[in-house]
Amino acid sequence: MRSRQVIKLFNAFHQEPYKGELFQFELEISGRVLDFSINVISEEATLSDIVPIARKISSKMANAILQGIKEKGINVPCRKGCCSCCSSLIPMSVPEVFRMREEFMAKSNKTSNRLLRRCIKSAVRILEKTEYSEYLKDFAKLGKRSVGQVNKWYGELKQVCPLLSGGLCMLYEQRPIACREHIVTGSSDSCKQDHLCRPNVVPIKVSVLEALGELASELEGTEVEAIMLPFSQAWVQDNLWRAERKWSAMEMVRLFAEILKQKESATAKPRLELAAAYA
Ligand code: SF4
Ligand code: SF4
Repeated sequence: MRSRQVIKLFNAFHQEPYKGELFQFELEISGRVLDFSINVISEEATLSDIVPIARKISSKMANAILQGIKEKGINVPCRKGCCSCCSSLIPMSVPEVFRMREEFMAKSNKTSNRLLRRCIKSAVRILEKTEYSEYLKDFAKLGKRSVGQVNKWYGELKQVCPLLSGGLCMLYEQRPIACREHIVTGSSDSCKQDHLCRPNVVPIKVSVLEALGELASELEGTEVEAIMLPFSQAWVQDNLWRAERKWSAMEMVRLFAEILKQKESATAKPRLELAAAYA
């Protein structure tokens, strides 16, 4: 096992032993008010440190949405092991990419190398496929595109997620927020690429993925960035110095909650943009 220093800056939610200053906020999701209490110790944190909290917030919100849908008698087929959606484009926020690198490195050498190899191979395949198709090549050359356009481009690649093995996610508990926020209603058949109808994707008003992207943008003074999962490990090598930057943990949690609250209001517009390709 490779050694890794784990600095517990956040003790997540209220039910865990209180060790720091309590920060509380609430969000109304699908007609339910969710109270969040986060214990934050008075130290500095990297962008990666906020990801476990973001995952918990995302799961709580997804549960509230699922409950609301099920109460209306509508079927939600999403479950662990259902994987047709794992051929979709998975955008990751900057904090998630840094966290994923740490989580890869915390595994045994064998597993860590396997995960890295799978991501790199997948990235190479995407670049190769892009080279063979004039449409994909032209698309990739041009700058920023809407999420819908990039999704269409990615669909043309027919590329399965590098973390999918034998129909199961190799990092299910630590999967990206995009995977957690992708919920459909009806039948899982509609998620298959060759299915005639498109899946009924449940709109997510308060996107934790977008909030993480905006948090990093505000703190670092950059544009809002999103990185495609297969390219994440190559991207992180070029941005390692950013992974080391620190801010006050409380400042970070407050800002994150503020961004989520802004999204809760009806007027908030998504700011996430995706680069058309890794450049
Ligand atoms: S989005 Fe579709 S493929 Fe993915 S878990 Fe839900 S039903 Fe299954
Ligand atoms: S990270 Fe896991 S859940 Fe998400 S697309 Fe990849 S295999 Fe599927």
